[in-house]
Amino acid sequence: IRGIDILRDPRLNKGQAFTLRERQLMGIHGLLPPVVIDQETQLKRVIDNFRKRPTDVDRYIYLMALYDRNERLFYRSLCEHVEEMMPIVYTPTVGQACQQYGLLYRRPRGLFLSINDKGHLYEMICNWPENNVEAVVVTDGERILGLGDLGVHGMGIPVGKLSLYTALGGIPPSQTLPIILDVGTNNKRLLEDPLYIGKRSPRVTGELYDEFIDEFVEAIVKRYGQETLIQFEDFGNHNAFRMLEKYRDKYCVFNDDIQGTASVAAAGIFASLRITNKKLSENVFVMQGAGEANIGIANLLALAMEAEGTPIEEARSKIWMVDSRGLIVNNRPKGGVSGHKQDFAKDFRPIDTLEEVVKEVKPTALIGAAAVPGAFTETILRDMGKFNERPIIFALSNPTSMAECTAEEAYKLTEGRCVFASGSPFDAVTLNGQTFYPGQGNNAYIFPGVALGVIAFQVRHIPESIFLKAAQTCASLVTDEHLAEGRVYPPLGQIQSVSLKIATELGEYVYEKGLASLYPEPENKETHIWDQMYSTAYECFEPEVWDWPEDANQ
Ligand code: NAP
Ligand code: MN
Repeated sequence: IRGIDILRDPRLNKGQAFTLRERQLMGIHGLLPPVVIDQETQLKRVIDNFRKRPTDVDRYIYLMALYDRNERLFYRSLCEHVEEMMPIVYTPTVGQACQQYGLLYRRPRGLFLSINDKGHLYEMICNWPENNVEAVVVTDGERILGLGDLGVHGMGIPVGKLSLYTALGGIPPSQTLPIILDVGTNNKRLLEDPLYIGKRSPRVTGELYDEFIDEFVEAIVKRYGQETLIQFEDFGNHNAFRMLEKYRDKYCVFNDDIQGTASVAAAGIFASLRITNKKLSENVFVMQGAGEANIGIANLLALAMEAEGTPIEEARSKIWMVDSRGLIVNNRPKGGVSGHKQDFAKDFRPIDTLEEVVKEVKPTALIGAAAVPGAFTETILRDMGKFNERPIIFALSNPTSMAECTAEEAYKLTEGRCVFASGSPFDAVTLNGQTFYPGQGNNAYIFPGVALGVIAFQVRHIPESIFLKAAQTCASLVTDEHLAEGRVYPPLGQIQSVSLKIATELGEYVYEKGLASLYPEPENKETHIWDQMYSTAYECFEPEVWDWPEDANQ
C-alpha cells in the first residue's frame, strides 16, 4: 500500500511519530508537520487535550476521534489512564453519548445488521474487513445500562465494551467486532427524532425475532468459527435469560449483565468474608431486585455454596429476594412467581416492603440491584448494623443517581462497621478519623480476563463455574491492606493485572475440566497469553536493508 494510505489508516497511522526516513521513503514527506515526536510526547498531548475538554461527553468525542485517527495512541492513552478514561469510554459517560448518538455520529464503527436484512446476515458479516475475529459483543439496544431502549443508538455500548477488551484484556482490536442488531425501537422519542440512525418502527418480537437471532449466531460461527466468543450485552430482561439458556451449551457465549455482574458481585462477597470471618453458607442474603443482575448473583452464590458442600436447595434457602411486588414467596396471591425467581421463592407470608423483609429475615448481607434510588433507608441501614457486627451492604444500581444508598450513609448509619461496595464509584469517606475506600463492583474486573482466557485457550463454551473461578481469582488479589481500608476489590488502577491473572487461572482450569480446544496445551499459561497480547508500540515502516559481500558481483 501507498504511504498516504498508511497515513490515513488509523490502525497503522502514527502521526508525527513517522521518522524522517519513513516520511521520505513512503512519499509522505511534507504531508506532516516537520517536527518528529515520539509516542510519549503524543501521549502527553492527548492527556492535556483530554483534560481541557469542558464536559465528559466532549472528552468522549475527543477520545473517539483519536480512536478514528490513531488506534495505538488511543489504546496507549486508555491503558495508562484507566481510572480517568474508563468512565468516559464506558459507563457512565458512554450512556450519555448513546442518548445523543444520532447527533454525535461522525464515522461508522462496528457492524449494523438490520431485520430488513434477514436471510443475508452471512454475506453482510463477510463484508467485515477482518479475517480473524475472536470476540463479538452484540446488543439489540433494548436495555442500555439503566437507560432503557435506545435502539441503534446503543451501538456505543459494544464499541465501548470491546475497547476495554483491548485496553484491559490485551485482545488485539482487529480481533474484536462490535455489532448492533436493529430490530426497531419502542422509544417514542427516537421514532420521532429526524437524526435517529436506525429503523423507524416498533421492535420486532416473537418468532421473527428468534429466527433473526438464530441466523445471526449461525452466521458468526460460519464466518469466524465455532470458538468465536459472542458476548450478549444490554438485551431486554426477557430475551437475555432466554437466549443465554438457548445458546450457552451450543456456542461460546455469555451475558455480561447476568454472568459478569454475578461474578464481580461474588468476588466482592468472597473478599468480604475475610472481614466477617464467616463461611459463605453461614450468611443470609436479602436481595432487592430479581432481574438480570440479582438473579445472576443469586445463582452464582448458590453454586458457590454448593461447591462448599451445601446442598443446592439449602443454599437457595439462604437467599431471599424482593421484586417490584415484594418478597418473593410461593403462592403469591395473583400471577404467581415467574421463571428463575421460582428457585428462590420462600414458603412465607407475603411482605410488601424491604424494611419489613430486613426486620423479619435479619440478613448478614444486603444486595440492591433494582434501580430504586434510596431503597436502603435509614431504618434498614441501622437495622443491618444492629443485626450484625460487620454487615455486608452492596448498593449495585447504576448510575450513581440510582444507587440504593450512598457510601457515606452506609458507613455513618452502621458506625463505620459495614462492608460496603457499589456499582458506581463513590469517593472515600472519613468517619471519626478513619478513612474508608468503598469498592466499586465494576464488571470490568471480570469480563476482559474471562474473554482473554476463553480466546487464548480456545474454550468452546462457557459454564457458570468459569465465572465462579474468575470471582475467586479476583477476590484473591485483594490484600489484607486493601481490606483494612474497606476495599473488597483491588484498586481500579490494577485492573489489567487482574485480567491477566484471571485468564491465567482459567487456563489451568479449562484444561483440567476438558473445556479447552487449543492443543497441545501450553506449558506456561501466562507466557502463552503474553505472546498474543496487543502492543501499543508503533510499527516501523523503514524497510530492512542490507549489503552483499564485497566479492558478490565478481
Ligand atoms: P432488570 O433485569 O430490569 O431487573 C430489575 C429488577 O428490579 C426486577 O426484578 C424488578 O422487579 C425489580 N424492581 C423494580 N422496582 C422495584 C421495587 N420498587 N422494589 C423492588 N424491586 C423492584 O435490571 P438489571 O439488569 O437486573 O439491573 C438492575 C440494576 O442493577 C440497574 O441499575 C443496573 O445498572 C444495575 N447493575 C449493576 C451492575 C454492577 O454494579 N456491576 C451490573 C449490572 C446491573 P420485577 O421483576 O417485579 O419487575
Ligand atoms: Mn450491560
